[in-house]
Amino acid sequence: KRLIFIGPPGSGKGTQSPIVKDEYCLCHLSTGDMLRAAVASKTPLGLKAKEAMDKLDEMLKKRGTGIDKVLNFAIDDSVLEERITGRWIHPSSGRSYHTKFAPPKTPGVDDITGEPLIQRKDDNAEVLRSRLAAFHSQTEPVIDYYAKKSVLTNIKAEKPPKEVTSEVQKALS
Ligand code: ADP
Ligand code: ADP
Repeated sequence: KRLIFIGPPGSGKGTQSPIVKDEYCLCHLSTGDMLRAAVASKTPLGLKAKEAMDKLDEMLKKRGTGIDKVLNFAIDDSVLEERITGRWIHPSSGRSYHTKFAPPKTPGVDDITGEPLIQRKDDNAEVLRSRLAAFHSQTEPVIDYYAKKSVLTNIKAEKPPKEVTSEVQKALS
């Protein structure tokens, strides 16, 4: 079964993804991750970014049909700054924590591996504004597209993590 989580940065997609990973082929179309991977590699950014985008196009072409469900993590923009600026990540697993909403047992340390957590350079208020602008202009049309195909379920992503989990489970049952 194929599932897409869609929503602005900080809406909780990464946090909720472990609960579905065994059951679903969660196609992780993270444009942000792909661009960051391009930046991390030493080859010229433009070339790499292009390559990543071509790959994304290919993936969408192959998988655009046969998507079983799309969950739209609906949330007001005003909530996202606090979510994003408090986010701490365990880089190798992608696990995310929040200083206020989901603190690790020891500050700055991953609960499971004991390895250090990092903050993403672009997880600040200023860059968030441009990421949100990109979301509204590029990603929102995709939400409309899936709504018309009747595979879309809206998730109230502003609720506490456990309530969002219940909504996700209900949407998938
Ligand atoms: P996304 O993957 O959509 O960018 P994340 O899952 O990384 O978002 O969540 C962004 C930040 O908000 C993280 O620090 C996470 O711990 C926290 N968070 C996730 N879901 C909730 C929630 N329902 N309520 C409060 N904070 C949350
Ligand atoms: P994610 O939540 O998957 O990490 P981001 O919020 O980082 O995604 O990226 C959302 C959008 O912002 C991307 O689709 C892209 O258009 C744009 N974007 C992200 N990072 C960069 C960057 N370093 N340079 C230019 N545009 C970017």
